[in-house]
Amino acid sequence: MNSQINQRTKGKVYLVGAGPGDPELLTVKALKTLRKADVVFYDDLVSPRILGVCRKKIQMVYVGKRLGVHSCLQDEINDKLIQAASEFKTVVRLKGGDPSIFGRVGEEYASLLAEGISCEIVAGITTASGVASSLGFPLTHRDYAREILFLSGHKKDGVNSDAFKNLNCVGKTIIVYMGLNSIDLIVSELLEAGNSKETNIAIIQNATLDTERVFTGNLDSIQSIIKENQVKSPAILVIGEIVRFYLEMENLKNDCSSILSPL
Ligand code: SAH
Repeated sequence: MNSQINQRTKGKVYLVGAGPGDPELLTVKALKTLRKADVVFYDDLVSPRILGVCRKKIQMVYVGKRLGVHSCLQDEINDKLIQAASEFKTVVRLKGGDPSIFGRVGEEYASLLAEGISCEIVAGITTASGVASSLGFPLTHRDYAREILFLSGHKKDGVNSDAFKNLNCVGKTIIVYMGLNSIDLIVSELLEAGNSKETNIAIIQNATLDTERVFTGNLDSIQSIIKENQVKSPAILVIGEIVRFYLEMENLKNDCSSILSPL
């Protein structure tokens, strides 16, 4: 433990989830924590409207790590948080979605506790839940999916192909975070594993934001759909029968609106 820093430590660090983008999906606890923050460290997935809830004139520090572009290494972020806790009472590390899901919160939590710094995780709504509510489908349904898998398309040293090897999609809702850049490999692994070409997939860009875009297809078509529509990050993949449920609900909504609309 670094006793020099520890002696000076007076602050507490909150590792806060900002939700998937829509500011209304911020939890009350996250909002309260942001409003008392003296300094906020944020990354790419936090929308400007959420940063806007903080008090004026506090320090806002960008520590994003866009895929493939060096900005701030994890160790540097850990050090910045430790340093900030010695200078400020309330330090917030704000992350997209839920910090405990593919959010590297574990590294930050461990490094802060190792320095004797008081630290708390504030849950956020993960993108999977945000997207399900925004589009209007459940992640589980007794007739479509009894299991959910949250997978990452990316791991520390590149594509996370192991996660998709021998993966049977039947009866599951599979949510792939960070899957856009690995789509070719994901599709080939899933076909190799014996899944039908007709297996449904949706890709959602900017979920829950005004700029949200949704595309649906299957294992055969999704790569060209992504290319043709120039889908960009952040985007999340939803794989499985639940996508068919979503399409059925969309049809119902269209049918209803044509019945209800005046002739
Ligand atoms: N902790 C976050 C996930 C971080 S991993 C959470 O719980 O949601 C980063 C990935 O999350 C992105 O590559 C993308 O796949 C997904 N993501 C985050 N925000 C998103 C959004 N608004 N729309 C679509 N995907 C999003």
